[in-house]
Amino acid sequence: MELRTGKHMKHMSLSIAGALKNKMFRGFSDDNGRALRAKEVRLMLIDLFNKGHRYMPIGECDNFDPFSEGCRGHVDIPEPKEAK
Ligand SMILES: [Zn+2]
Repeated sequence: MELRTGKHMKHMSLSIAGALKNKMFRGFSDDNGRALRAKEVRLMLIDLFNKGHRYMPIGECDNFDPFSEGCRGHVDIPEPKEAK
């Protein structure tokens, strides 16, 4: 899931507090692709929250700030043209 606004795009992020409050524990998997059980997800979210994390990325994001704002955004163009 991606939001595109002009030349920038931002990944959606999941609020960890919101997920805990609403018991959104489905659809998570570990690094090996194994589906996590609701109990495991809950413990993982609590653990992250206690470490100060507030957001989780939805999708692949290499510019993510879990502590405050989530995805910091990406420029949606491969290379800027050099002016000569
Ligand atoms: Zn991102």
